[in-house]
Amino acid sequence: MTPPGKPVRVRIAPSPTGDPHVGTAYIALFNYAFARQQGGKFVLRIEDTDLSRARTDSEQLIFDALHWIGLTWDEGPDVGGPHAPYRQSERGDIYREHARVLLDRREAYRCFCTEDRLAKLRIQQQAEKRPLGYDRHCRELDPAEAARRAAAGEPHVVRLGVPLSGPFAFHDLLRGEVTRDAREIDDQVLLKSDGMPTYHLANVVDDHLMAISHVIRAEEWISSTQKHVLLYRAFGWDPPQFIHMPLLRNADKDKTKISKRKQPVSVNYYRDIGILPEALLNFLGTMGWSFGGDREKFTLAEMIEVFSWDRISLGGPVFNLEKLTWLNEKYLHELSVDELADRAIAWRLNKAYLTSVLPLVQKRIRKLDELIPAIEFLFSGDLDYTPVLGELVIPDVAPADVAKGLLAYVERFEARVGWTKQMLEDEAAAWCSELGWKTKHAYMVLRIAVTGRTATPPLFETMAALGKEITRRRLRRTAEVIGKAK
Ligand code: GLU
Repeated sequence: MTPPGKPVRVRIAPSPTGDPHVGTAYIALFNYAFARQQGGKFVLRIEDTDLSRARTDSEQLIFDALHWIGLTWDEGPDVGGPHAPYRQSERGDIYREHARVLLDRREAYRCFCTEDRLAKLRIQQQAEKRPLGYDRHCRELDPAEAARRAAAGEPHVVRLGVPLSGPFAFHDLLRGEVTRDAREIDDQVLLKSDGMPTYHLANVVDDHLMAISHVIRAEEWISSTQKHVLLYRAFGWDPPQFIHMPLLRNADKDKTKISKRKQPVSVNYYRDIGILPEALLNFLGTMGWSFGGDREKFTLAEMIEVFSWDRISLGGPVFNLEKLTWLNEKYLHELSVDELADRAIAWRLNKAYLTSVLPLVQKRIRKLDELIPAIEFLFSGDLDYTPVLGELVIPDVAPADVAKGLLAYVERFEARVGWTKQMLEDEAAAWCSELGWKTKHAYMVLRIAVTGRTATPPLFETMAALGKEITRRRLRRTAEVIGKAK
């Protein structure tokens, strides 16, 4: 599988655009298991060239989440390594140099088409029901002339000169030959007008320079791989071995790609509801891969020992919360009481957490035996809204619109970095004025959604203490409940 003498080097390459995704953990696990079994190296590279989408806190959240489930990497932005830097935003010169190599080889060309021209082209293609894509307008420009225009400061991008027709294929270890006709691919932008690389250029250059032997990623990247293969060819490089893992699916009847609208996708959600890291890791190991026989419970070390790609089945693995809970229960029951106490303390029953929530209730209790009842909703799972359904209303607003409004609030805090009372309050105020809802009514709905009660400690402090994951989950569930209510 690997040419003799070529060491196994694999990587994950997350983009730091949000909360640490279970899909990242899933792909990391398979890279890790394969690397460890082969005595190879596992690299973590941060793909942050799309700065408009990058979030400053996201990278650290990814590191923390992967460490929490028990994975470590041999090279990466935090641990260094022979191919540093491992953050693409710090490798701009490398990509520009490589774009120049392709220009010199006449495998790429400069394109001076304006946004306006491209927009008109798109409209025309849509009207004529033709496939969308760049019409190669600049492909035949004289390269010397194009270089002069670029040197004079004319804005431009660099595009790959994709062969005009003909089949080309790559080999996927799980899927065999994947073929496409070059005609279906337009001339990809490699370098944007601001000098930043696109995902395609940066990804291929880095995988090559970092000597990656196997690219193990989710199947949603197959159409990109087809472009990457053309890029490897243009550089005259041997491509790595490709392995596209089946996508995680929602537990709905259409088995759609896992999405936050259908179920929580942040690793931190599972941490916050008290899933044990070893249970989550084990669960991810059962996604698309089988240990053998009907064995579902296994440790990481056991998985590494028997790991092989022929145990992957390509039918979409369902990220099924019931199964995760079932596995978690098994791990939980096996802990000694001493270990269980440690886990509970590490979870929320610790001084640091209590110190953050006690100010919310200190003036509301008279005896310590009133403490737990006063903050019980900070330690419980999904809430039952049946008794408070009649209160989940905004006067003169249809329930479906109340539900939509709640989701709009979620979108607002999703777009913000950090998780503080002040941020939550600012967003809520802006949200109310946008919807024209009175804060008195809107905040009551939020209060009930996050606590299940009408009388609680101050709302935004409570949300801050509850954490983003549980808050998001409860708001989404409330929206669902209101949406369904007649
Ligand atoms: N940056 C891509 C991501 O966010 C990397 C995909 C790949 O592994 O090539 O997942």
